Parts: sequence; C-alpha cells; structure tokens
Amino acid sequence: MATMLEMMKSNVEKNVSEALKKAQDVQGKLNAVVTFVDPTEQLENYNKNGLMAGVPIVLKDNVCTKGIETTASSGILQGYVPIYNAHIVDRLQAEGAIVIAKSSMDELAMGGTNKTAYTGPVHNPYDLDRISGGSSGGSAALVAAGVVPFAIGSDTGDSVRKPASFCGICGVKPTYGRISRYGIIPYSSSLDHVGYFTRSVRDAAVALEVLAGRDDRDMTSSFEPVPHYLDQVKGNLKGKKLAILKNVVDVIENKEILDCFNKVVEEVKKQGAEVKEVELNEDLMKAMLPTYYLIANCEATANHSNLDGIRFGLQKEAKSCEDVMIASRTEGFGSLIKKRFVIGSYGLFEENQDKLFRKAQKVRRLIVEELKNALDGLDGILAPASGTVAPKIEDQNQDDLSDSYLVAENHMVLGNFSGYPSATIPMGEVGGLPIGLNITCHPFDEGNMFDILRGIELITGLEDKIKEVL
Ligand code: GLN
Repeated sequence: MATMLEMMKSNVEKNVSEALKKAQDVQGKLNAVVTFVDPTEQLENYNKNGLMAGVPIVLKDNVCTKGIETTASSGILQGYVPIYNAHIVDRLQAEGAIVIAKSSMDELAMGGTNKTAYTGPVHNPYDLDRISGGSSGGSAALVAAGVVPFAIGSDTGDSVRKPASFCGICGVKPTYGRISRYGIIPYSSSLDHVGYFTRSVRDAAVALEVLAGRDDRDMTSSFEPVPHYLDQVKGNLKGKKLAILKNVVDVIENKEILDCFNKVVEEVKKQGAEVKEVELNEDLMKAMLPTYYLIANCEATANHSNLDGIRFGLQKEAKSCEDVMIASRTEGFGSLIKKRFVIGSYGLFEENQDKLFRKAQKVRRLIVEELKNALDGLDGILAPASGTVAPKIEDQNQDDLSDSYLVAENHMVLGNFSGYPSATIPMGEVGGLPIGLNITCHPFDEGNMFDILRGIELITGLEDKIKEVL
C-alpha cells in the first residue's frame, strides 16, 4: 500500500497549484501563512524519483530559506532574507518536495498558543474560535485543513506535539541529533529539535528517512545510520512492552479525555501488548516547568543577543550603535519575549548562575535519570498529550500552578530534556475537537516508535483525516 506522500508523485503540477490555491483560500480563516512561496522554479527541476517527489510542503518560518524572507514571526526579523538554506530545506528539495509557504509560529518559537505571532493568532480548523496550539501552529493548521500532507515544525518544549494534539494530526519530535538544525533560527540549543507534521504514521516514517542524518554543520548532529523506517512499520502490537505515565493520567480532570485514552489502551492490550503503569517522582514532575523555563530562557537570551538591529531584519535609526540596538530591540520584540529575556538574564547573572541556571541543569539531569529508569525494559511510555482540547483564543484563565497544568500540560518536555524521541497521534474527539496520544521511546528507536503508533492508528482509524474549513 502506497503512503500519501508516495501517492503524490503523479499529477504534480496540479497537486502543487491546488495546494497553493487552497493555502491562499483558507488564509482568511486560519491566518496560518506568513509568506507564500512561488513554486514555479522548483517545479521546473525537482527530483522525480525522490522519496517526496512532487509533494507540496510548508516550512515553519524559523527555517532559513535562501532568497525568501524568514521572520520567525517576530517584528525584529521583518525584512530578513537569508542567503542560505537550512540543511533540511536542501534535504527535502533533494528528495523532490516543493515548498509552497512559510508558516506562522509563536514569536521566535517562544509560546504554546500561536497567539504571539507578529501576524496575529492562527485559528484551529476544527473551531476557528480556538487556538491551533503553538509554537508550530501555522504548520499544524495547514496539515489538518488538508492544504499540505507534510509540514516542518520545531519542538523545544512540545511545540510540534501539542499543536498536533489540538489539530488532530501526527506530530513527531525525533531523537536529539537525528535531524540537523543548521539554518533553524535557534531558541534554546540544548532543547531545540526539528520536528514535523503528517496525517499518517506511515508518512511520518517516510519523512524521517528524508530529514535524518549527519550534517557536519550542526555539531550535535548524529552519525547514527538512517534506516528505511517504513520497513519497520507493521503495526503489530503483539509483544510490545508499554507503560502508562500515571502522574499525567492522575491529574487530568477531563473525564472524556481519560475515557478515550483508557479505551485505546484497552484495545492495545487486546492486540497483545503488555501495558503496565509507571510513576515518576512527583516533586521532579512538578519541577519540570520551572526547570524548563530557566534553561530555555537563559539559552534564548544568549542565542538572541545577535538580534541587535544591525545584522538582521529591522533596524531603527539612532545616534549611536548602542542606541540602534536599544531602539531596534525595544520595538522589534513582543512583550512576552522581553519578559523571557529578563528571566534569562537574571538566571545568567554571575551571582545567580549557580543557584539558577546550573541548578536547573542539575534538576534536568535528575528528571532524565527518572525517565531513563522508567523506560528500562519497555518499548515506550504512553500518556494523553494534553488534559484539554484546544482552548478558545480569548481564554486567558489557566491556573499556571495547578498540578494539572504543571504535570499534564507540560509532561512532553521530558522528550526535550532527555532528547528521546516522542510523538503525538490523534486518539479521538471530545465535543468535536481532536485529542492526542503521546509516546516517548528510547533514543534512535524511531522505527519501533512508528511501529507502535501504527498499531494504535489501526485501532483508532484516524489516518489521513482532514478538516475542511471552506
Ligand atoms: N510552550 C513552550 C515554550 O513556550 C514550548 C515552546 C517550543 O517547544 N518551541 O517555551
């Protein structure tokens, strides 16, 4: 059976022009695109035998594209046109993919709502009054709405896997080092991963073969050979050893989400998988969010010190070089980013480094040890991706200190702390809105991860699902 990506190899010009037209038609409703890309030149000379030959795709706007504006949805990068492609752009094009748009994101990937994009919020195809989730919200919305079968995102805390849950599609964050980050505008280098969206697990397997592999320009990129992942994707759950992450299930308040998750798990057991429960240290689970914010904000503050109004994008006029930087940064960054820079700078002050940044790194190590021990002897750990459906765009009232927020809404950061592969696939709907199931597996065990997810996809039947918005 051919995968969706393989099926797109015929009628390429028609598919690509339809995808571009659809992206334009839904823009008024979803607001998911920052820049449309003219595919004419790419169509003249694409690799007709590539793994993604003729597939129209979308890139998150933090992916540098030669000659095409790249803003990371931030005011400070307005007008920035890179002179080079990110490694993954070259890989995708070498396999025949055709880029049709750059998608909206939370500013500089810092956020989980896509409400902080310079071009305004992205709307969820399932309910236009709701968020797509973020930070890779534009990419998620376009895949869910049937505009493209594949889109790139990035995942520092859960920015691919959470929007995938809210938009009812597959979102994959592979092992740290599996995909080169060369040419991706960084957020937090020890946590940043390239990730992506598809509408089926089998497409996800094909896509990783395209994206993965060593790149000398990213020193964190792995030498681990890249297998033909699709060969491993049989969907046979018999003998798989899985566990449910009890800490997450225990704090979720939405009964319908729990019921849906439990039903899927019962089916997984019936198919012959062994499923037990694992519980991580509760204090460490509650420490995930503060630990994450410290590390992420400190690293972001350092990484973004180059956005100075001189080298890239927006430049305000002023008397001295220093004043140009102050004026450009003051105008160019949104308020949330500035708050994060204040936290990041504070954590990096010489007198604070030990008790904040370095302490957070130590706590991260303890959390990763917990996860590693829990995974011992298992193939993967399962949990609902979120304890809620996509919130309303207007919704502000979330209790940031409740257990359900701290644990259920932030557990996917375990995959970033550890670098272990983690993915979300749809498991059902609650009130007409999608909800996702998340799995975390051993490093470089993506083939097995896709195999398990394929088994679950066969149970839910939620493959190639599109939510039309027109
Ligand atoms: N919501 C998290 C944050 O704001 C995750 C973002 C991400 O993964 N890029 O940092």
